[in-house]
Amino acid sequence: MNGDAGEVRIERIRAVRTAPEGIRLVIVKVETSTPGLYGLGCATFTQRPLAVCSAIEDYLDPLLRGADAQQIEDCWHVARLSSYWRDGPVLNNALGGVDMALWDLKGKIAGLPLYQLLGGKLRASARVYVHAHGRDASEVTDSARALLEAGFSAIRCQVGVAGAGTYGVGAAGTATQQVAFDPDRYARVVPALFAHLRDELGWDVDLLHDTHERLAPPAAVRLARELEPFGLYFLEDVVAPEDHGWLEHLRRHAAVPLAIGELATRGEDLAALAVGRLVDYLRPHLSDLGGITPARKLAALAEAFGVRMAWHGPGDASPVAHAANLHLDLALSNFGIQEWTPLTDASREVFPGAPTIDAGALVANEQPGLGIDLDERAAARHPYPEDNLNGSWRPVRLADGSVIRP
Ligand code: MG
Repeated sequence: MNGDAGEVRIERIRAVRTAPEGIRLVIVKVETSTPGLYGLGCATFTQRPLAVCSAIEDYLDPLLRGADAQQIEDCWHVARLSSYWRDGPVLNNALGGVDMALWDLKGKIAGLPLYQLLGGKLRASARVYVHAHGRDASEVTDSARALLEAGFSAIRCQVGVAGAGTYGVGAAGTATQQVAFDPDRYARVVPALFAHLRDELGWDVDLLHDTHERLAPPAAVRLARELEPFGLYFLEDVVAPEDHGWLEHLRRHAAVPLAIGELATRGEDLAALAVGRLVDYLRPHLSDLGGITPARKLAALAEAFGVRMAWHGPGDASPVAHAANLHLDLALSNFGIQEWTPLTDASREVFPGAPTIDAGALVANEQPGLGIDLDERAAARHPYPEDNLNGSWRPVRLADGSVIRP
């Protein structure tokens, strides 16, 4: 780690806070000994952003100052092991953001887009799925139709449950709700939704659904079985991480493709699902996993077991994270599909070079590294909302008042 002549050393690691869409983003900026040369990463954990900022600026910055910025593996292991107790979303987001920034830097130093460093592009663009929702089946159909007309061909559909709360029908697909969740009514409404969608939209569209880990395992098995006739592209988070032990049972009873992983903070947990062929798609959130370094290793292992990757791509991933997802998508042979949340003009102003959509697929520019920048002046014009640091998340409760998973 001693600086040699010509070496690019880490000089400072900063956490930049911005919220162009009202969602609390954390961007990592790794500044180097070469003037003007820096890397960007995403460390967004929107429910606990200040804890992540502290992990970055109070711990990783002093730890990695002076390190050779090109020694990504060394930096990653040093940072991960430096706390002795490791993993978890706070530490992993900090680590993942720094890791992404080091890959961005490596691409800039090489003068190559990141996908080139990952083996080269084996597809021109990355097909995405987007979110449709509505209060009832008819509104969801209208929402899906509008997305089809905009050129998308894979659509996640979430429907309201009359008189009860549910996931994914808020303005931004968030868990904003005060009304109790009713698992029985939810499980009856969803198959009816997909019957309606197939009647109205036909079969030339890929449909997806996210149960958001809300059902108890036996109800999840039953829902998966009842969704079989509608040919979903995949069913997302059918059970919570705590209930992964149910997946083998579920696989025996329902032939529905399964996608799991956005809550994972340990690659080992998802590797076990791939090795056991318990899922069809792994979809971790890059920064929660610890960045591109563990993600590409997990993807390589998954490929050997016929499992494809569908990285988490919600609104609470920054455009920097979307760019990192995209470079992996372009270079991985076992890429499945990419979740995508359209960006507003405000986001594009803060993040010049953010990926663009063409015919329902994401396209990367050919700039070195992640190909994305951060306009810090524009970012400063979008400070964190001050009203509620917990963001839009509220406890999700059953009718008896007990709290369930979000
Ligand atoms: Mg999800």
